[in-house]
Amino acid sequence: MNTATSHELFTRALDLMPGGVNSPVRAFKSVGGEPFFAASAEGAYLVDVDGNRYVDYIGSWGPMIAGHAHPKVLDAVASTMRKGLSFGVPNALEVTMAETVRKLVPSMQMMRMVNSGTEATLSAIRLARGATGRTRIVKFEGCYHGHGDSFLVKAGSGALTFGLPNSPGVPKALADLTLTLPYNDFEAATTLFAEMGDQIAGVIVEPIVGNANCILPREGYLQHLRDLCTQSGAILIFDEVMTGFRVALGGAQARYGVTPDLSTFGKIIGGGMPVGAYGGRADLMQQIAPAGPVYQAGTLSGNPVAMAAGLATLGIIQGPGFYERLESATHVLCDGLEAAAHDAGVPVTTTRSCAMFGLFFTDRQVETFADAVACDTAAFNRFFHAMLRRGVYFAPSAFEAGFLSSAHGEEELAFTLQAAREAFKEVAAG
Ligand code: PMP
Repeated sequence: MNTATSHELFTRALDLMPGGVNSPVRAFKSVGGEPFFAASAEGAYLVDVDGNRYVDYIGSWGPMIAGHAHPKVLDAVASTMRKGLSFGVPNALEVTMAETVRKLVPSMQMMRMVNSGTEATLSAIRLARGATGRTRIVKFEGCYHGHGDSFLVKAGSGALTFGLPNSPGVPKALADLTLTLPYNDFEAATTLFAEMGDQIAGVIVEPIVGNANCILPREGYLQHLRDLCTQSGAILIFDEVMTGFRVALGGAQARYGVTPDLSTFGKIIGGGMPVGAYGGRADLMQQIAPAGPVYQAGTLSGNPVAMAAGLATLGIIQGPGFYERLESATHVLCDGLEAAAHDAGVPVTTTRSCAMFGLFFTDRQVETFADAVACDTAAFNRFFHAMLRRGVYFAPSAFEAGFLSSAHGEEELAFTLQAAREAFKEVAAG
């Protein structure tokens, strides 16, 4: 595989950007080797600057659920763009966006658009603190909520991949206000709330963990968190930046029938443009400036081009059978990966929820963060490279979920599983 142009770009980039990248996991540091530089993308495929083509199971880390460069999204962006890039005064698309989100996720009674998932989660905990007058927040080991100071405590995603779950630069006084719990442990949550429930402003959780690979909630776990928050007056925040519009049209809250007080969104809601959103109970959102005293703002928030891309994507996902097709494609992929691994004698299990999945190098079903970190990351790294050489791009870390799009059809799945049969044999050979 020729990667000369990527190599040349990466060499230049290393001198210009930390790790040569603008976001850590892209550097391929934990899997080894060098990243490829994208030239273009279409449907289920990424094409690099050397002309190599990959079936893409990241989809820009989640946004591209309708496939890359979907014509409807491109058309919406192009026609909106010609009217001006940013106005700094309200525009109609912001209203349509909020109406659309509320229709699809009814708990979003009121909301604010922001520019990233990080901004959404930061704003949501500020609101939880402002509304309750309390300071402590609760998060879960291995969950990632963006790079806000309060969240870089036992964090997942790149922070976990690079062994930096607690980042230097976060003042201890602030980190001390973040309490952490093991995800899926009923007892631990009950005990913490019994001890300090009246000090907890909010609980933030990825309802399905996607930043420590992919871990599903145990039966009744999200409802348990809901009950603890209701009893103690803490605000329950579902971070649906990853799960929103991915595990169901209404997100994880629809899938599990548990209603949070606040939710955060990102990725799909922007269709590939920089967009995030937070919102929920109207009485809470009315406390945001200028309606109320909790401050939050953004020069480019609600940007028309970003709203157009997001709205076009939200339009596509409402098409008949959209999620049923995604669910069955993910099913075929996960079953096929397990069978291929089994045939090669490599212990592998998978988890999945509609268009998101986890692949674990272990022989046991993964239900906790401890299970996820106990997996064989060296075997994963070999598998990652064996797949990449065959033209299939999985996340360059054992601690990231994989994503399918509606552009992943039979042909892409068959190609992927053929590559996997060979790759698992390579892993088995050591
Ligand atoms: N929350 C979750 C659950 C995420 O997965 C991410 C990013 N992967 C974020 C928040 C942060 O979003 P962003 O990278 O857009 O700031």
